[in-house]
Amino acid sequence: MRTIRISVPQIGQAEEDLVLQVLRSGQLAQGPMVARLEELFKNLTGAPHAVAVTNGTIALEAALYLTGIGCGDEVITSPLTFAATLNAVLHTGATVRFADVGDDFTLDCQSVERLLNHRTRLILPVHLYGLCADMPAIVDVAARHSLQVVEDAAQAHGATCGGRSAGGWATGCFSFYATKNVTTGEGGVVTLQDDKLAERLRIVRHQGMSRQYEYVLPGRNWRLSDLAAAMAIPQLERLDQSLAKRRRNAAELSSFLRDEGRITLPAVPSGRDHAWHQYTVLLPPHVRREAVISFMVAHGVQTGVYYPRLVWDYDCYRSLEQVGRDDTPRAADIARRCLSLPVHPSLLPDDIAYIAEILIAALDSCQRIL
Ligand SMILES: *Cc1c(COP(=O)(O)O)cnc(C)c1O
Repeated sequence: MRTIRISVPQIGQAEEDLVLQVLRSGQLAQGPMVARLEELFKNLTGAPHAVAVTNGTIALEAALYLTGIGCGDEVITSPLTFAATLNAVLHTGATVRFADVGDDFTLDCQSVERLLNHRTRLILPVHLYGLCADMPAIVDVAARHSLQVVEDAAQAHGATCGGRSAGGWATGCFSFYATKNVTTGEGGVVTLQDDKLAERLRIVRHQGMSRQYEYVLPGRNWRLSDLAAAMAIPQLERLDQSLAKRRRNAAELSSFLRDEGRITLPAVPSGRDHAWHQYTVLLPPHVRREAVISFMVAHGVQTGVYYPRLVWDYDCYRSLEQVGRDDTPRAADIARRCLSLPVHPSLLPDDIAYIAEILIAALDSCQRIL
């Protein structure tokens, strides 16, 4: 039996050709392909600057480094995220506070406002599952309270909100990890609005050099290789098509599941274009998620749980003073009930109906066991 996977890299002839061109060119480290990738990202996001880096976690670390935040400062983010978001803030020395999310799985602005105090410096929204957080509202709160904003857009290549792209509102952090909508295996990019910050990041990325062996600050090696960049270029050139496929798949999943009253379907707030990195439903509260997952795997459908617990809800974080333990009941409920279904562009036409059918059969079977 074939297994329908939760993610499939979109790599084809064009990617192979361009990577081979780099291999044969003899220039493997950061070079012209990285420059092309950065141009494509400026076009995609509308940001005046894009700087490619080693991975999405480094993109976050770099963006936070540029903000200058540190010990005693507070950052407000979502508890429904990957550890990279939290880890990147912790490495700055700042304290992390968690606001609750809305029905759209992204930061709820009212909850953000309740956490504001004289130590708050930065809001770090996560565009979870490929859906932009409510950026007009977040940018408005930030402006009223003189806060900086960094977008965790690791899952949101091509998502938009209020007519502007993810990464086009503030400093945006994207990932090209193997499972992301655009992938180079490992890779990332930072989009920036400010000329000086972009220049500073280019220097830091390259060991602090303004020119060769001209060190102007203590730098890092945050460079991306041209091999990796070459892999991303055709994917970015085809992004419109692959996004259209994801959107079509999501709409079909919703139409097959619309009458299934037991689960909550993902909703797209008006004014936003979802990038459908994940199509995530909420299971009924009484159903054992593990049983649903096992049933679906046994019938050839891989699913995902993003994320099974709130990001701080682990011993290694709970013991840290830097990590807030804010009450976020909606995020906690989502963590208990969320299940992501395959929505990627490699799904075949019959797969969508089958995924929906198997999910419904799994719910029936789990209810019988109850
Ligand atoms: C993938 C991801 C990251 C980290 O990206 P890497 O390239 O794996 O380092 C950060 N935040 C979120 C929300 C992610 O999904």
